[in-house]
Amino acid sequence: DTDRILTPLRKPDDVDAALRPKSLDDFVGQKGARENLRIFIEAARSRGEALDHVLFFGPPGLGKTTLAQIVAREMGVGFRATSGPVIAKSGDLAALLTNLEDGDVLFIDEIHRLAPAVEEVLYPAMEDRALDLMIGEGPSARSVRIDLPRFTLVGATTRQGLLTTPLRDRFGIPIRLQFYTVDELERVITRAAGLLDLAISPDGAREVARRARGTPRIAGRLLRRVRDFANVAGAPIVDARTADSALNRLEVDSLGLDAMDRRYLLMIADIYRGGPVGVETLAAGLSEPRDTVEEVIEPYLIQIGMIARTARGRCLNGAAWKHLGLPVPSGVQD
Ligand code: ADP
Repeated sequence: DTDRILTPLRKPDDVDAALRPKSLDDFVGQKGARENLRIFIEAARSRGEALDHVLFFGPPGLGKTTLAQIVAREMGVGFRATSGPVIAKSGDLAALLTNLEDGDVLFIDEIHRLAPAVEEVLYPAMEDRALDLMIGEGPSARSVRIDLPRFTLVGATTRQGLLTTPLRDRFGIPIRLQFYTVDELERVITRAAGLLDLAISPDGAREVARRARGTPRIAGRLLRRVRDFANVAGAPIVDARTADSALNRLEVDSLGLDAMDRRYLLMIADIYRGGPVGVETLAAGLSEPRDTVEEVIEPYLIQIGMIARTARGRCLNGAAWKHLGLPVPSGVQD
């Protein structure tokens, strides 16, 4: 899936770091999340405490990692990052936790993928700032408790529901990230173009924004590819026409859908007469893992009203039939 230009997943050629906003003021969009974070950070700072544990959830590429770094910077503390699948043993997590400095942010990406034994270590760490270690084996084994420095755990996951209840309950500050509006993405792109030293007109930025699937990571990636086309064509500034022709060449359509999205929609239209059809069946037909279908392809199609998730499966809405250039069957909702 990372072959797709529109994948919101991280790709090796994303020079993400350069474009990452460094403060809450720099961070575009997610107004509710930003305002809440600002208050919680200010309150924690004024009390001289570590910030409560924060969970960011929402589709990939919306700014979870970026916000975690911003939280550390605004709290004036250190930032350590790891991810769920990387922490193989509970001892690895214990080592990470005991090496934290007072107040540090520990960021765990894909926190839903922690091994159960590792997750167990997190519970007392989050709740009591303590580590329960087993020493020895068999009948002589005993547990010792080690105090940990104050720290803030920042977890990120694509869906809150993927977390176990005990883990979810230990986050005092759960924050859902939303897809960005076209206006917000236009600002993200204008800002990024400035950092990339790229001349772009407002209508050029808007064209890229409209086709970036509500996702800043995709906006940044499309902008880089559009820049390549503009450079080669010798265009002094990226306007709407330059952006449009570059995006068409990349097979990103007017709504920001790519070949994979269209295959997904066409499969429901052609083979299942608009649905309902189960996600497993669709995943098999597309030769994609079910997780990719549910976490990468579908959220945006739902967001823009192309499909509906029902108890019996996925259904096409009228907008999808129209977008595919097919007649809307009678009885189908818009
Ligand atoms: P996630 O962790 O949710 O997958 P990231 O935090 O890695 O997403 O963000 C992906 C990219 O999008 C980064 O390059 C980041 O700079 C950019 N980005 C994310 N949110 C914003 C925003 N609000 N404003 C500007 N750029 C953003």
